[in-house]
Amino acid sequence: EGFLPFEHEPYFSFGDAAVAQQQQEAYRQVRGQYVGQRFSLIIGGERVESDKTFEVRNPADTREVVWRFPKATPAQLEQAIGAARAAFEEWRFSDPFQRASIFKRAADLMRARRMEFNAVMGLENGKNWFEADGEIAECVDHFEVFARETLRWAQGKPVYPMPDEHVTTVYEPIGVVAVISPWNFPAAIPLGMALGAIAAGNTVVWKPASETPLSSYLLVELLFEAGLPRNVIQFLTGTDDVLGDPLVDHKDIRMIAFTGSKEIGCRIMERAAKVQPGQRWLKRVMAEMGGKDPTVVCADGDLDAAASGIVQAAFGYAGQKCSACSRVIAEQSVYDELLAKVVKLAGELKVGSPEDNAALGPVIHAGSAERIMKYVEAGKQSARLVLGGERADSGEAQGGYVQPTIFADVDPRDPLFQEEIFGPVLAFTPARDWQHAIELANDSEYGLTAAFYSRDPRKVEEARRKIHVGNLYINRKCTGALSGTHAFGGYGMSGTNAKVGGPDYLFWFLQTKTIAQKY
Ligand code: GLU
Repeated sequence: EGFLPFEHEPYFSFGDAAVAQQQQEAYRQVRGQYVGQRFSLIIGGERVESDKTFEVRNPADTREVVWRFPKATPAQLEQAIGAARAAFEEWRFSDPFQRASIFKRAADLMRARRMEFNAVMGLENGKNWFEADGEIAECVDHFEVFARETLRWAQGKPVYPMPDEHVTTVYEPIGVVAVISPWNFPAAIPLGMALGAIAAGNTVVWKPASETPLSSYLLVELLFEAGLPRNVIQFLTGTDDVLGDPLVDHKDIRMIAFTGSKEIGCRIMERAAKVQPGQRWLKRVMAEMGGKDPTVVCADGDLDAAASGIVQAAFGYAGQKCSACSRVIAEQSVYDELLAKVVKLAGELKVGSPEDNAALGPVIHAGSAERIMKYVEAGKQSARLVLGGERADSGEAQGGYVQPTIFADVDPRDPLFQEEIFGPVLAFTPARDWQHAIELANDSEYGLTAAFYSRDPRKVEEARRKIHVGNLYINRKCTGALSGTHAFGGYGMSGTNAKVGGPDYLFWFLQTKTIAQKY
């Protein structure tokens, strides 16, 4: 362990005019190089076309089609799974040092292209520079972390000895892994799942979200450039009728690694449980789903720190993170003061284009904005609106712009308190005391992240024990898990608790062989 020194990739300082200019220049280059292009599938190492394509639109102004990707056919899905199976027969025996060095090289290649990746993501999913940069830096971290994890797991684990047998425990890959990923983290999330698979010696069928294929495609090509054999990852874009259930149901898929909605995660879990004719294993499912993440603020907490953590976690990327803070639970005695601070900070957020690095960009689709507004309209009846509550003016641009919105005095039974909205909508609820606040924090079917603000060691100790989440953050915001350090994954209906970037993550992609040998 600790083979090589490690440091998380530092973020760019966009406050520095020269750095900001580089990011603008990267946008210009990306527009010149990629906008209007038609990209391909990748099957068996070859770039493959399809008759039909779909458009990817810029959420900042949906009149703009940025690029096109193919709609894979059922035959292409078959070919891709076949190619992944064939490639597995070689890749499963690949040298872990080879795998680790590919990831190290990929980290270096990526470092040189971070601004380009930021711009591509901005045009696909509307992340501003800061948010995109955080995610692309996380990709570099993933490469570095998985390089080390590959070597660590390749060593096997010691067992209790026997006098007359030599016994080893080794970890072996399992087969073809389907990676199904969301648009909100179109680079770091699929990369984490795909690297987990290939670090372990598996091969991959990678299906990115249709909103954000280029952020994924460029990563796959970057891995090939870094030396990954081109047949180890198959890259398929298209529609769910071809790449949804049929991919999950396929008898040759060994594992599904999914991140996305609770609804789809549950569906995958259920379908994968059915053993198909000819299937020779029980499928494994990793399903990382939603959150309804609370920030608890105790009366003794640092209210300014809490307010700024809340605003970043609730409104960063317009709240479209499963880790986003969507509930604030504050002790009655500081409730009004905290609310006023949060409303003030959130009210200062500028809504605008992610390409100009506006604090609050569009949500992914006009349809999402409408869905979010239904919650907001209902909330106007059931709670006290204290900020926003309308679609935001975006001038000429057509997009799902929604004002940062805050409701106060939200009842714990209200959908605003219980349901994942995935937008810039925050609910405030008072608690009688800090113990009650912890109870309210746990009043959720989800259990992904939580933040807890207090300077009292006794309260902190109780929060550490009682708050039912996979990622608990004390005196800091609840977004921004760093690979290798904040293993990410939740409790309850937030999913299978796979903990990407954590010390046990690769175990998900491996099976354990005990070999006892007599001489
Ligand atoms: N890992 C990200 C974070 O810690 C969140 C991922 C997600 O929201 O899907 O903020």
